[in-house]
Amino acid sequence: MSTKDIKKVNTHPSQNEGLIFEHSSPGKKAYRLRQLDVPAVDAASELGSALRTEAAALPEVSEVEIVRHFTRLSTWNYAVDHGMYPLGSCTMKYNPRVNEYVARLESIAGAHPYQSEASAQGALRIMKTLADALVEICGMDAITLQPAAGAHGEMTGILLMRAYLESKGNPRKKILIPDSAHGTNPATAAMVGYQVENLRSNANGMVDLAALEAQMNEDVAGLMLTNPNTLGIFDAQIGEIAEILHAKGGLLYMDGANMNALVAKARPGDFGVDMMHLNLHKTFSTPHGGGGPGSGPVACKAHLEPFLPKPVVAENADGSLRLDYDRPQSVGRVRAFFGNFGMHVRALAYIMANGPDGLRQTTEDAVLNANYLRKKLEGTFDLPYATPTMHETVFSDKLQNKQGIKTGDIAKRLIDYGFHPYTVSFPMVVHGAMMIEPTESEPLEELDLFVDAMKAIAAECESDPELVKNAPHTTRLSRLDETAAARKPILRWKPEQK
Ligand SMILES: *Cc1c(COP(=O)(O)O)cnc(C)c1O
Repeated sequence: MSTKDIKKVNTHPSQNEGLIFEHSSPGKKAYRLRQLDVPAVDAASELGSALRTEAAALPEVSEVEIVRHFTRLSTWNYAVDHGMYPLGSCTMKYNPRVNEYVARLESIAGAHPYQSEASAQGALRIMKTLADALVEICGMDAITLQPAAGAHGEMTGILLMRAYLESKGNPRKKILIPDSAHGTNPATAAMVGYQVENLRSNANGMVDLAALEAQMNEDVAGLMLTNPNTLGIFDAQIGEIAEILHAKGGLLYMDGANMNALVAKARPGDFGVDMMHLNLHKTFSTPHGGGGPGSGPVACKAHLEPFLPKPVVAENADGSLRLDYDRPQSVGRVRAFFGNFGMHVRALAYIMANGPDGLRQTTEDAVLNANYLRKKLEGTFDLPYATPTMHETVFSDKLQNKQGIKTGDIAKRLIDYGFHPYTVSFPMVVHGAMMIEPTESEPLEELDLFVDAMKAIAAECESDPELVKNAPHTTRLSRLDETAAARKPILRWKPEQK
C-alpha cells in the first residue's frame, strides 16, 4: 500500500522550516516606534560598564516572516485538535473551548497573585468552589490545589504521609509499590526519603494480597496504588488492601491519574484511601503542556488535613474568604503562590459545564470507548490480560514479533495514518506493550478510522514488514536517533553554527 492510498493521512503542509535566525537579514524589523516625546537618555552614562559593547545576535525579520515562521512550526505538532491522541495513561482528552473562554475573561486573566485578599474574593471563590467539588468527587475531607503536576502531587501526598507518621513518633522506612505502577511512584517515594519495595501483581493484574500481607510490617509507611492501574484494570480488592495497611498503622496513597474511569461513579475515599492526587490536565480537561502548566491537587482524609501545604483557602465567619497561613503542622509550601490558578479556572469550568450527570456520562463514555477498541482489535493484536479493563486497554506486539516488528514500529506507522501513537512499551509488566486510551472525546467515526488503521497496519506486518519497520514515511523526518537526541541535545543556536 502506498501512502497515497491511506484515507486518513494528514501530511505536513510545510515540509521545511529553518530556525528564525536563518531567516534573519540585517536591518529588517517587525516594529516601528513612535517619536520620543521625552528627553532621550544617554545609555552609556546611565549604564556605565554594564552597557554591552556589541549588539546581541538577535534575528532581524519582518512581521510577516515572524507570523509565517511560528504558524508553520505550529503545524508540526500533533494535537488533540488535529485528531485522536490515544496516548495511554495520559488521558489526552479534548480541551473544551468554554474553559478557554472563561480563563480569558479579563477579570480572571488579569488577576495578580499579590492583589489584596479583599480585591481577590472572586479568585478565592473559584479556588474554594473547585476545592469543594474535587473533595466531593474523591470522597475526601480536605485538599490542596498547590501542586503543579501529578508527580508533584505524589510528592506532596507522600510528604503528608511522612509528616503524619512523624507526628505519631516514627516516619518508618519503606513504601510498597506494585510492579504495575507508573514510574513516577517509586521516584516520588525515593525523593521523600523512603526505600521502595516492589509488590508483585497476580495473574489478574491486581495486587497479590498474600504478598501484601507478608510484606506489610511496622517498617512500611504505606502503599502507592494506581487504581485503575496502568493495565486499565480496576483493583476491586482496594478495600481489603486499605484494611491490611491500616491494621499495621500504614497509609494508602492512591495515584488518581486514572480518575477518568471513576469520576461520579465511585469515590476513592469510600474505599479507605487516605490521600490521592488528581491530574486536572488529564481528568478535568485542562491542557497538557511540555512540562507544564499542569495541576495536581492532593485530596486527603481529615487526619492528614493539618499537614497540607500552606496557605489554604479558608472561609471567614462573615462568608468572605482568606488565605490561611496559620498552620503549624503544615509541610510548608510546595509551589509559588497558590498553584496554577489558570488551570483551576478551566477545571472548574469543565465541572460546572458538565454537572454531576455530565461527568458520569463522561466516565461511562471513556470506559465504553476503550472497551469498543479492545473488542474490535482483540484477535488482531495479543491481549495479555483477560481481566476486563476500564478507560484504557493494553495489547502487546506478540503476534507481530514473528515478523521482527515491535510495538514502537507499529506506533510509528500509525503516524502515517494520521494518528498520534499510543503509549509504547509501558506498563513494564507487559512485554512489548501497546497501551491505548481513546478518552470520551472521540466520536464513533474516529474510533472506527483508528480500528481500520490498526488492522491495516497488522496486515502490512504480514505483507510488507519493511514498510512498518521503516515508518513513518509521511513526516518531515523519519526515524530519529533517539539516544543522541536524549544524550546530546542541541538546545541553543549560536552564531558560529551558521
Ligand atoms: C500521568 C501520570 C502520572 C504523572 O502525572 P504528571 O502530571 O505527568 O506528573 C502519575 N501516575 C500516573 C498513573 C499517570 O498516568
